[in-house]
Parts: sequence; C-alpha cells; structure tokens
Amino acid sequence: MADLNLILLGPPGAGKGTQAERIREDEDLAYIATGDMLRQAVAEGTPLGVQAKSFMDAGDLVPDEVIIGMIGDRLGSADARDGFLLDGFPRTIGQAEALDVALRQHERDLTAVVLFEVPDEEIVRRISGRRVSAAGRVYHVEFDPPKTEGIDDIDGTPLIQRDDDRPDTVLKRLAVYHDQTSPLIGYYEERGLLQRIDGTLSPAEVRDHVRGTLATLKREADF
Ligand code: AMP
Repeated sequence: MADLNLILLGPPGAGKGTQAERIREDEDLAYIATGDMLRQAVAEGTPLGVQAKSFMDAGDLVPDEVIIGMIGDRLGSADARDGFLLDGFPRTIGQAEALDVALRQHERDLTAVVLFEVPDEEIVRRISGRRVSAAGRVYHVEFDPPKTEGIDDIDGTPLIQRDDDRPDTVLKRLAVYHDQTSPLIGYYEERGLLQRIDGTLSPAEVRDHVRGTLATLKREADF
C-alpha cells in the first residue's frame, strides 16, 4: 500500500495538533511538529532554541534557514520512511519549495495537504483561553477546563498560558499566517493536493471528516 505523506495546514489554533493526535491513533506515521521541536530546543537552551525564542515570543516566524535545516534531517530519518505527518511546517512558500526539493531527493511524493478552515474571531477565542501544564497537557478555560481552576488534573502543578498564546501575540500570529502561510493554500491547490476541512465543527466531527478524507485517499492510491 502507498505511504501516507501528509501536511496539516491552517491558522494557529485551528485544531491541527488535536487532529494530529487522532490521526496517529489510526495511522503509524512519523509525527513532525516544528513548533514542538522548537519549544523543546528552547526548554533545553540549545543554540537553536536561544536563536528561536525571541521570534516565537513575538509571534513571528523563525527564519526559513533555521527551520529548513532542522526539518531536513528529520525527514531523512528511518521512521519517516513509511509515511509522515507534518504539523506546522511548511509555513512559507520558501519552506514549501525546500520541502519539494527534500522529497525529490528521497524520491517521495506528498499524498495530501489537509487544510483546517477556521475564522479569525474563533481562533482568538480558542487560543486566548488555552492553558498548558508543565507536562504539556492542554486545557481551555471555557471549552475544556481542569477540575480545579489553574491546576493540572493529573499532577496538580499550576497551569500556565504560553507566551505566544497571549491575546496580543495571537493577533500577530494570525496576521503572520494570512501574510506568509496562507499563500500555501494556492500553492498546493494548483498541485491538486489540497483537502479542505471545516475546522469549526467539534473535534469528533472534524476527526470523522479527516478519517473519511484519508480513507478516500488510500482507496485512490490503491487503484
Ligand atoms: P506552533 O506550535 O506550530 O504554533 O509554533 C509555535 C511557534 O514556533 C510559531 O509561532 C513560530 O514562531 C515557530 N514556528 C513553528 N513552526 C515554524 C515554521 N515552520 N516556520 C517558522 N516558524 C515556526
């Protein structure tokens, strides 16, 4: 059977991370999330993390050279050989072109780019209410509150708001998305790879749509 090589595209807070978790329950894919890789580098204080932190805190994109270097090794690694799920990359046309080159080198094709469509007002509501535990568990003050306000259900540690989830930074990240990332919609549409999903539905409904889309793609690949 053909490998699934997928990109999840959409504004910050559209549900890409949540749906990535669901897809990984169904499919054995290497999960490559540049935001997670960068946050880990920041937490470890590596040179890459030090370089990336100021861009991330300001809601800006980390420069393409940094990201492309980071992702190149990961795509070539053994576990990515049987299919991958890219979350948060590519975010610029330059990154998409670099990805095309890397895929050609590894003789791989993209299967699809799944776009989660959510209007800006909804994004602001979703992200500004997001709280995370030290272990990375994600809550929402309105939609998915912890049992005790401000405290992680599992380990009792205080929940925090990520610097880049503060309302002013969210608006900046949305502006950056519209300016630098949304041109990728046309880029992948022209290549016949784009699959649009209504990201305003409930996580379970979005999951069903994603599953339906992937099932169709797999059927088509087998013929
Ligand atoms: P995310 O968790 O995907 O929303 O990423 C958090 C932050 O990491 C972003 O706001 C950017 O500053 C940075 N970042 C993540 N992925 C990329 C990328 N592909 N290109 C540039 N910056 C990125």
